[in-house]
Amino acid sequence: MTVAIHPFDALMDITARPPVVFARGEGAWLWDDAGKRYLDFVQGWAVNCLGHSPPAIADALAAQAKLLLTPSPAFYNGPSVKLAKALVDQSCFRQVFFTNSGAEANEGAIKLARKYGALHRNGAYEIITFEGGFHGRTLATMSACGKKAFEPLFEPKVPGFPKAKLNDIDSVKRLIGDKTIGVMLEPIQGEAGVWPATDEFLQALRALTTEQGLLLIVDEIQTGIGRTGKLFHYEHAGITPDIMTLGKGIGGGVPLAALLATEAASCFAHGDQGGTFNGNPLMCAAGLAVLQQVAQPDFLKAVTGNGLFLESELQRLSARHGLGSVRGKGLLLALDLKRPIGAAIVAEGLQDGVLLNAPQPDTLRFMPALNVTRDEIMQMITMLDTILRKLGVARCVG
Ligand code: PLP
Repeated sequence: MTVAIHPFDALMDITARPPVVFARGEGAWLWDDAGKRYLDFVQGWAVNCLGHSPPAIADALAAQAKLLLTPSPAFYNGPSVKLAKALVDQSCFRQVFFTNSGAEANEGAIKLARKYGALHRNGAYEIITFEGGFHGRTLATMSACGKKAFEPLFEPKVPGFPKAKLNDIDSVKRLIGDKTIGVMLEPIQGEAGVWPATDEFLQALRALTTEQGLLLIVDEIQTGIGRTGKLFHYEHAGITPDIMTLGKGIGGGVPLAALLATEAASCFAHGDQGGTFNGNPLMCAAGLAVLQQVAQPDFLKAVTGNGLFLESELQRLSARHGLGSVRGKGLLLALDLKRPIGAAIVAEGLQDGVLLNAPQPDTLRFMPALNVTRDEIMQMITMLDTILRKLGVARCVG
């Protein structure tokens, strides 16, 4: 017997969703099924680095779909070989394992570090992670997260993730013991509200982990693929990590992520790692289309320039409304609202046709397409200005 339910109710209720169905996207813009247009500064949570449905990705997917979808992960395929080589050529890493989500890439990084510990450090398995950190929603990656709200969930957690404090090297030193195999962090904590690790901290971590024979693992799922103005964020600090994970932007909107390791750290043996869809040619063709554009020096220069432009416009807006500071790098920025009005702004934005994100009650996070234009940035600023006035936040200075 078919029970009459609202179509929305056929989906598991895992998050509060507004009653809007998105139907189409182009660049910085989304349309719902009633034809209403929205300026999108969320972009699937920093995923659509070339904007919605860019021709380069649509064409690459269409062409690859006609050629080959999935031969089997136990065979080579052209796009995955090409994409792995391109990533290796443009990074400090030697080998790549493709995954279907960021969490799966991090799960792989954790397994790789534990394998390294089994081979080289008497079975050491602990990975020091950070308060506020976010690494995904599998059981091991949730255990690696330093997100308070996850603490009571799905007990017992996977053991082996002691938490240090970001930008406090002594807090890391205090946690190192016989069982430690590595340190894992986001160079900018995204979900926590865009809290950057300083370059000095990243350098100190590299020096400490090298001295102690530990692995340095960077989760660049949010910061990688040009988001902060360099292809990979670790380049800002001039360090070379042992393991890196990528996700979000690497597929430009399709489910693709990656685990990268240096020659010394790349120690999986046959049977240690795998997965039916890993490195399938369809997703890797999209990844190649993304990398061909994002890795261009002029593209990265424009990200830096537009990031500085967005930052200065947010600072001006903040001064007009008596809000707090702007933090982050490139096109991953946050505005401190100094009051818990994030959700109200997001709700007003949806009404007014601008999509914004509040990872914390007092924080707005901006993660537009990497090819966002200055005109689109100014349109968002104007709409946000209107919302702040509507909510009565303005001090009426400007
Ligand atoms: N790591 C970081 C830094 C992230 O921001 C995210 C997603 O927000 C993840 C891991 C998990 O990636 P996914 O949602 O693709 O599993």
